[in-house]
Amino acid sequence: MAFITLNKANLFHNLALLSTKAGGKERVMAVLKDNAYGHGLREMAQLCCEFGIKKAAVKNVEEAGVIADLFEEVLILVDQVPLEPLAPNLSFAAHSCEMLEALREGSSIHLSIDTGMHRNGIKEHEIDRAMALILKKRLVFKGVFTHFRSADELSTAFFWQRSLFERAKQRIKAFVLAHHLPEVAFHSCNSAGLLRTNSLGDDAYARVGIAMYGYNTLHPSFKAYELKPVLALWAEKLSTRILKRGERVGYGGVYEAPCDELISTYDIGYGDGFFRFDGIASLAMADGRLSKGRMSMDSFCLEGDAPKVCMFENATALAERFQTICYEIPTKLSPSLKRIVV
Ligand SMILES: *Cc1c(COP(=O)(O)O)cnc(C)c1O
Repeated sequence: MAFITLNKANLFHNLALLSTKAGGKERVMAVLKDNAYGHGLREMAQLCCEFGIKKAAVKNVEEAGVIADLFEEVLILVDQVPLEPLAPNLSFAAHSCEMLEALREGSSIHLSIDTGMHRNGIKEHEIDRAMALILKKRLVFKGVFTHFRSADELSTAFFWQRSLFERAKQRIKAFVLAHHLPEVAFHSCNSAGLLRTNSLGDDAYARVGIAMYGYNTLHPSFKAYELKPVLALWAEKLSTRILKRGERVGYGGVYEAPCDELISTYDIGYGDGFFRFDGIASLAMADGRLSKGRMSMDSFCLEGDAPKVCMFENATALAERFQTICYEIPTKLSPSLKRIVV
C-alpha cells in the first residue's frame, strides 16, 4: 500500500533553525492548516509538540479539535463563526467587524488587520469600531495579526505592510493600556517574512508553515538557508509484466515499447492527490526511474520491477513540472494515505 514518510530529523532541523531565527521556540507558531500541508495533522502536531512548540494554527474548528490537547493555544485561521463555544485554548481569527459582531460572547479572538493584501482583515479606519465590539461582546482579546502578500518576492510591499501594521499596533496597544486589558500578542511574519527579516521586533511570534516542512520560498537573491524537506511519497508495486516491442501501455496507449521491456504498475494515481501526468513526457522518480504512459486514477507504470518507489522526497522539481508552487504538491495528497514517521 502506498505511504508517506515524515522525516523527524529533518523536521527538527528546520524547527531548530527557525526557532533560532525567531528568537526561541516560544516565538514560533506552527502552521498546521490543511492537514499540515498534506503531511498529516495529528502526526505533525505530535512531532512539533515533542520539539517544544507551544502554539499552532489550523484551518478550521474541526482541525483544531484534532490537536487541541497538544498545544497551549490553537488559532483557527479560516472558518465561519462557530455556533458552539470553543475549548478555552482555541482562538478564532476574526477577519471583519461582522465576524466580531457574530461571535459568541466570551470567545477568544485574534483580530486580523488588512495591511495591503486585501484578502481578509479590518482596515485601519475600522480599528475603533472593532475595539468597541471587543469590549461590548466581552471577547477575550488574545492577538492581532496581519499577513504579507509577497514576503518571498523582491518587493518593497513587505516594508510597506510592516509599517502599516506598526501603526495599527500602536493604536491597539494604546487602547489595551487605556482599558487595562491583558497583554495582546501581535504577529505578522509567515516563513518568508521570518527568513528575510533580521528581527521579529516586538512581534510575539512568527506563523511558520512552508519552511518548517522544508522549503525556502524566498527569491534566490536573499540569504540561503538549508532547509530539509520532511515528506516523501512512496508507491508499492501491484504487478509486473514484459511489454513486447511495439506494445502500448495505459490509457490512450501513449507509450509504445521500443524494444521488449520489463515494466511494473504502482499504487498511486491522481485519486491519491498526485498530479495527473499525460504520459507524453515521462516523469522521473526520486531515483531517476522514468514513468511509462499516462497516470490512471489509482496507478501508474514504471520501468523495472522494484517492490516500491519513492515518487518524490523534494517537491521542488515537481512544482516546476506541474507549473505550481511547492505548497500545492504535498497539500493535495490524500489524507487516507498512511503516514509513517521515520
Ligand atoms: C498559511 C499561512 C501562514 C503560513 O505561511 P507560510 O508561507 O507557509 O509560512 C501564515 N499565516 C497565515 C494567515 C496563513 O494563512
